[in-house]
Order: sequence, then structure tokens, then C-alpha cells
Amino acid sequence: SATHCSRLSPFLVYGNLSIRQVFQASLNQQEFGWKRNMASFRSRLRWHDHFIQKFEMEDRMEFEHVNRGYDLLDKVRNDQYLEVWATGMTGFPLVDACMRCLQVTGYLNFRMRAMVVSFLTHHLWQDWRWGSPILSKYFLDFEPGIHFSQFQMQAGVTGINTVRMYNPVKQSMDNDSEGNFIKRWVPELRDIPNQFIHEPWKLTALDRKFLNIDNVYPEPIINHIEAGREARKRIWSIRNHPAVREESKRILKRHTLPGRRNA
Ligand SMILES: Cc1cc2nc3c(=O)[nH]c(=O)nc-3n(C[C@H](O)[C@H](O)[C@H](O)COP(=O)(O)OP(=O)(O)OC[C@H]3O[C@@H](n4cnc5c(N)ncnc54)[C@H](O)[C@@H]3O)c2cc1C
Repeated sequence: SATHCSRLSPFLVYGNLSIRQVFQASLNQQEFGWKRNMASFRSRLRWHDHFIQKFEMEDRMEFEHVNRGYDLLDKVRNDQYLEVWATGMTGFPLVDACMRCLQVTGYLNFRMRAMVVSFLTHHLWQDWRWGSPILSKYFLDFEPGIHFSQFQMQAGVTGINTVRMYNPVKQSMDNDSEGNFIKRWVPELRDIPNQFIHEPWKLTALDRKFLNIDNVYPEPIINHIEAGREARKRIWSIRNHPAVREESKRILKRHTLPGRRNA
């Protein structure tokens, strides 16, 4: 993401640049043959304003489910889970690399933000409100208007957006196939052969001793397959609850134009 995103978010948040300035500059950029990329970039600038507007209209979403139906969700706080997630010690290499990278640089790209939130709220089954202050403290571009909406979307508690649950191992294989990002941020795993970099728990006890990672890098904190299955079951069962449906209608009415869905 170092070269594939604009990295403008902190400048927009602190007002060093205005959305208008960036929007206009992107129109000029078309001359250099970037028409399609610039069009999707501009749609992200629109999301920026859309989410901030949404927050202006309903700022309780900092503390409450935007969809009150999700107050029915039953989550039990687990301080150990929160601690290992925040410090990058879950035993899932890509999740840990992301959290450690974030602490040092203040930045993660969109997909990785979505994945760490999905892991926290689905696989670890923790309430988004316990995780959002941790990420907001780390983000260099913390913008309440975007942050709380996005956090709730990724936690699957808006009732109006598709629920996206990211498998942390698949994401790792897809986005960091050679393990370069992982090895940079989780140096304990530097000497691991590539075929084990996404799932170091598959190494034998003897391999672990030989590679000096015994008692250095943790075992996975949960079984991600079972946890993912359980989370999917719970989140989809509540989505059809009348209280969630009622609230979904209210949200669409309040925050979207007639005829538009999935804001
Ligand atoms: C859980 C979660 C929390 C987030 N919290 C923040 C936050 O606190 N502050 C923040 O600026 N962004 C936040 N985002 C949105 C997005 O991840 C960042 O804006 C983006 O990664 C910033 O990198 P960039 O400037 O290179 O983005 P680019 O892809 O180059 O996009 C250009 C600009 O468009 C806006 N933008 C991009 N994606 C989004 C989006 N999904 N929603 C709204 N605006 C967007 C940003 O202002 C960004 O600078 C969050 C996303 C998630 C999943």
C-alpha cells in the first residue's frame, strides 16, 4: 500500500489539504492516463464526506450501535483477547504484523483495517466499542466521522451493509504471499520457510525448536475456522430479527436519498 494509495488521509483530517483541492487536482491528473484510477479515487473522496455527514447527523454512533437492534448481541469482554490483539500477539501472523505496523507507522490500508476489525469482532467475538479506542489511538488519520461508521460496518452491526468476515489465513496468503510484510513486522518469524509463514502452528515441535521460535511466537489464540463458523451463525441469525430490520429501515431513510441503498 506504500505506493498504491494516496496516503492523503492525515492531511485531510488535519486540514492541511481540503477535499476540494484534492478533488480538483485529481481532475487534472487525468491528463496522464490515470482516468479510471482517478475516478475511483474521487468516489473515495465522496465516501469521506458521506461518512462525516452521517456522523454529524447521528453522532451517538461513537458510543452506540447505529442499528439499535444489535443491542441484543451478547458479547463477553475478554481482556486477554483485547490485549493480544492490540499488541500483535494473537498467533496469526498477518493480524499481528498489521497491529505492530500500525503502532509504529500510524497507518494501515483499508483492507487490513477491515481485516483486523473483523478478526476482533467476529473471530474473537469482542464488542467493537472495546476495540475502536485502541485503533483510534494508533491511527495517524483518526477521523471520528469515518472511523465509527467503518468500525461498525466491519463489525457487521449496521444491518444495511453486507457482512464481511475475513479469514486471516486466506488474507495472509492472498495479500502477502511471500510473507515479506509479515517478516518485516514480526521478526520472530523471519527464518520460517515460506510454506509455513501464514500458519506457523503447522510446524512440528522439532522444527520450532530448530528455528528458535519455541516460546517466542505464540500459538494461535483461537481456532479461526471454528470461531469464524460460530460468528457467522450468530451474526446472520440476529440480522433477521425484527428489531434489526426496523432499525435498518430507519437508517436508510435517515442517511440515504430515496432510491439509493447501501450507503
Ligand atoms: C475500521 C476502519 C477504520 C477507519 N478509520 C479511518 C479514520 O479514522 N480516518 C480516515 O481517514 N479513514 C479511515 N478509514 C478509511 C480508510 O481505510 C482510510 O481513509 C484510507 O485507508 C486512508 O488511506 P489513503 O489516504 O491512502 O486512502 P486513498 O485510498 O488514497 O483514498 C483517498 C481518501 O479518500 C478517503 N477514503 C478512502 N477510503 C475511505 C473509506 N472507506 N471511507 C471514507 N473515506 C475514505 C480518505 O479521506 C482518503 O484519504 C477506516 C477504515 C476502516 C475499515
